[in-house]
Amino acid sequence: MALIVQKYGGTSVGNAERIQAVAERVKRFRGQGHDVVVVVSAMSGVTDSLIKLAKGVHSEPPARELDALLATGEQQTIALLSMALEKIGCPARSYTGYQARIRTDSAFGKARIMQIDEKRIHEDLKKGLVVVVAGFQGVDEDGNITTLGRGGSDTTGVALAAALKADECQIYTDVDGVYTTDPRIVPQARRLDRITFEEMLEMASLGSKVLQIRSVEFAGKYRVPLRVLSSFEEGPGTLITYEENEMEAPLISGIAFNRDEAKLTIRGVPDKPGIAAHILGEIGKVNINVDMIVQNVGADGTTDFTFTVHRGDYKKSMDVLKRVSQELKAREVTGDDKIVKISVIGVGMRSHAGIASQMFKTLADEGINIQMISTSEIKISVVVEEKYLELGVRALHSAFGLEKPK
Ligand code: ASP
Ligand code: MG
Repeated sequence: MALIVQKYGGTSVGNAERIQAVAERVKRFRGQGHDVVVVVSAMSGVTDSLIKLAKGVHSEPPARELDALLATGEQQTIALLSMALEKIGCPARSYTGYQARIRTDSAFGKARIMQIDEKRIHEDLKKGLVVVVAGFQGVDEDGNITTLGRGGSDTTGVALAAALKADECQIYTDVDGVYTTDPRIVPQARRLDRITFEEMLEMASLGSKVLQIRSVEFAGKYRVPLRVLSSFEEGPGTLITYEENEMEAPLISGIAFNRDEAKLTIRGVPDKPGIAAHILGEIGKVNINVDMIVQNVGADGTTDFTFTVHRGDYKKSMDVLKRVSQELKAREVTGDDKIVKISVIGVGMRSHAGIASQMFKTLADEGINIQMISTSEIKISVVVEEKYLELGVRALHSAFGLEKPK
């Protein structure tokens, strides 16, 4: 007998039949004697349509009111699922984030969970109830409703699992686990039985959309046993593990990519202390996150500086950089918003040399030019022209032997 937190995403609760199917699954787990806490997203499309509704009223909706509105999506689902559970003889009780006392900070639209009062949930479980909690929402110190950012129900699930010291947190979604890469690009992509937490963190931050990155960070902090599974077919899913055996680990676990990238270059700025801090400081002031950074020193005592940002921030970054360029009397500013980032990830590369050269050779053999490179202990990322995304990912997936065994 275990305590299990199950999180169901928007497609898993997308209509009445699917909600009933979720109820049946929960009942099966109850039948095996487990305690179950369920966290749900809004039905698919609901959050988007609420945002649209808000924008129809106000082009920049006040953040507090937007959160009050968006939180209603999940409130619908908890009530519907609890009804479906009651209907099949599985007593249940729904809680909004407010009712479950999921305390967050006051950063509307991207609030962070500070604390969860798990007492009431434990009491309900003791009474034999299934507890159904709204994902994606909480309440700040002053009683304002907050939301955690898009995809935030994952984080609610993991945070609840941590607070309740659950035996497992199961994230049910529309894919049956974490794959070596996106199967839409590489049909031979394979489901991984297990992946280390660190690899999962890289995957999530490098463009894999399976789990919200913050939920992975949370899971790592509290070492929550986490499993990603499909709500449409039975299977073991992918287990996120905290122990790794580097000797046994595959060299590469997956290929991640990110299409939403853009790069900017400022050339011919003085090569002296404080320049990088100044340029990035100005970008940071307008709330833009910089990802990769490359600096080259020229022979003439000046330096060139290139960095990448989210494609949606390209224009804004360009405006800032042009202003900085005038101040610094730089030679020129250029940019490109048709680039992508491709990364190979694997804890196995810690104990193996030569992964980078194998990656670069594979890309070279396909005639793909590498524009930027960045590395960490367990990943290598390159920036290439957008048109080479599919080709590059396929070539790397096969070069590192990640296909399904025939
Ligand atoms: N409903 C929210 C969203 O669509 C939260 C979630 O699904 O995790 O982003
Ligand atoms: Mg989601």
